[in-house]
Amino acid sequence: MNGFINISQADASSQEKLSFTQALLRGLGRGDGLFMPASIIPLDNIPELLQCPFIERSVSILQHLIGADPLRVKLDEIVTRAFDFPLMLRPLDDQVAVLELFHGPSLSFKDFGARFLAGCMQHSSAGQSITVLTATSGDTGGAVAKAFYDQPNVQVVIIYPQHGVTDQQAAHFVGLGGNVISVAVEGSFDDCQRLAKQAFAEQSQAGRKLISANSINIARLLAQVCYYFELAAQQAFSAPLTVAIPSGNFGNSTAAMIACALGLPVKTVLAVTNENDTVPRYLLDGQWLPKSVVQTITNAIDIAAPNNFTRIEYLQRQQAHLLPVFQSSSISEQQTRAAMRELASGGYLADPHTALAWMGLRQQLGNDECGVVVATAHPAKFADEVQAITGVKAEHTPSSDSKLARLPLIPAEYSSLKKILDNYSD
Ligand SMILES: *Cc1c(COP(=O)(O)O)cnc(C)c1O
Repeated sequence: MNGFINISQADASSQEKLSFTQALLRGLGRGDGLFMPASIIPLDNIPELLQCPFIERSVSILQHLIGADPLRVKLDEIVTRAFDFPLMLRPLDDQVAVLELFHGPSLSFKDFGARFLAGCMQHSSAGQSITVLTATSGDTGGAVAKAFYDQPNVQVVIIYPQHGVTDQQAAHFVGLGGNVISVAVEGSFDDCQRLAKQAFAEQSQAGRKLISANSINIARLLAQVCYYFELAAQQAFSAPLTVAIPSGNFGNSTAAMIACALGLPVKTVLAVTNENDTVPRYLLDGQWLPKSVVQTITNAIDIAAPNNFTRIEYLQRQQAHLLPVFQSSSISEQQTRAAMRELASGGYLADPHTALAWMGLRQQLGNDECGVVVATAHPAKFADEVQAITGVKAEHTPSSDSKLARLPLIPAEYSSLKKILDNYSD
């Protein structure tokens, strides 16, 4: 690979390239720019790679993606520790299977990206104190808090919408203590994301480096590319494949598109949203018009201004010839509930996000086609909703039944966040 570039710069193709480590540490480029590999060279050994075990294959893929970089020699160690939990493909019927990515410590797919990012940071920050600032719509908070918990020289600050996360989600980060502080914001996830962006833009902290653990950080996305190859390794379908992904910030669908650019055999990537349907509308009429956020039971994707969509457009401009069809559809809350009930009556208990993606897939899958639903959260993370809708109790132990006090609580203003950041830096 030939380095990483800031895709929001007009002269993207001619600008100076950054190494992976540089892009990782900067998080955001100038002008709120996102980093991407300057170009993606297809893998030439996919059949052999698919025979390899998950960890070994993931190391090869990540080596290929990050190219020459100081972290290259550490990838084996980082990936072995980060991806230290199972992932599996469960067939639902003869056309559809579910890729379960939620068997990590915080019970969501975000463990892959967050744990890989934490490993990379540990090896590249060289003893420097860092503050990891993360806006969460529910599941990033838990994944990041657990990935960085107790890491020396790291302070974690998590900001989340006061009314936007379930108790089971909050239990993974609120009240964790140690080096993790969680701050509730009187606003939506988009507000949290705006505050975080402002903090990065100002880099106001003397002596401390502010690091983003959101999917604006390219390290998270590259980690996520790996599990799409596991899908190809485990699946037995012969028909053209559609991959359906519940999408909020569109990081996961960006990772799927990168996997396809590397040569993953997929015909269609279907990014499914809830009523926050900025992207499906944009694909219909070419108008980028985020509305105000609607709160739904699929709270992790209650996002009206998805950050990563520009990365997908960049890929489409750069390597259109290799990419699958990219589609996006919107599923209503009522349809999501119906999907949860239908799946449960067939014996599969799905969290609301997974059920939404399944419904999106079913609406468009032809009789001679096959599809994989990306299962992003464990149903136990939405235990109350799952039980209310399906009547089935989603079991998973360490649950904390005590309702945690969601403190501190700040208004959705940067000055309030800044006070907290200043307070928690040395
Ligand atoms: C974060 C999250 C998503 C959305 O992923 P994006 O990469 O932001 O599109 C979907 N489902 C669950 C359960 C999540 O936590």
